[in-house]
Amino acid sequence: MLKNIRIVLVNTSHPGNIGATARAIKTMGISKLYLVDPLMFPHVKADEMASGALDILGNATVCKTLDEAIADCGLIVGTSARSRAIPWPHMLPREFAEKAMTEGESTEIAVIFGREQSGLTNEELHRCHFHVEIPSNPDYSSLNIAAAVQVIAYECRIATLKDLAKPAQDYPYATAKEMQGFYQELEKTLVSTTFLNPKTPRQLMTRLRRLFHRARPDMMEVNILRGILNAIQKKIV
Ligand code: SAH
Repeated sequence: MLKNIRIVLVNTSHPGNIGATARAIKTMGISKLYLVDPLMFPHVKADEMASGALDILGNATVCKTLDEAIADCGLIVGTSARSRAIPWPHMLPREFAEKAMTEGESTEIAVIFGREQSGLTNEELHRCHFHVEIPSNPDYSSLNIAAAVQVIAYECRIATLKDLAKPAQDYPYATAKEMQGFYQELEKTLVSTTFLNPKTPRQLMTRLRRLFHRARPDMMEVNILRGILNAIQKKIV
């Protein structure tokens, strides 16, 4: 559903790019814009580039942190032109768009875009179920941020034209906030059982995050997992 999709821009430095993004999404029928700690906003350059999409800028939600911007989302994807140290499940824009259109009306979907200079950090990318890469020229792979938004938004619009079957599901997917709470409990339990030594954590939590993100538990499943962790904690204290 286009109305469930939010475009999240992290730490954007050029206000013109924020305006161009507003125009890019409005032309494709997406209306939710989230800005995480933008350098300059509101700004006349954003308004100029937005052209007739001033309403999108006016309704944009400005957040201090990425966690705040995605807290209630059940599908989170990060866009990136490069692959990272720990490989993560990834998709092409078309696959993502089709997936987004089959999600129930109850799932809020976040598509995250990084800084013009440095993209998204590993920590930010590890908040995501999937990474979406626009298959560009390997020798010159980085698109302007608003151009990247346009490609993703266009694919989402095209996907609305297809008749996509909905998967069977009895509970909504767990949101980012619920998963974050689960990871905190999990880490606490792993430390108290001495499985995880906080002095040498290595990539354990990142790998576990990837595992659980891949499984995409629903709310009920996360409640069960947290119940299990609770029972373990009670036994060891
Ligand atoms: N120099 C940065 C590029 C930032 S471009 C880097 O190396 O990561 C700004 C943002 O546009 C990126 O963070 C990403 O969200 C998006 N973007 C640019 N090119 C992209 C591509 N080929 N595929 C997916 N997203 C892309």
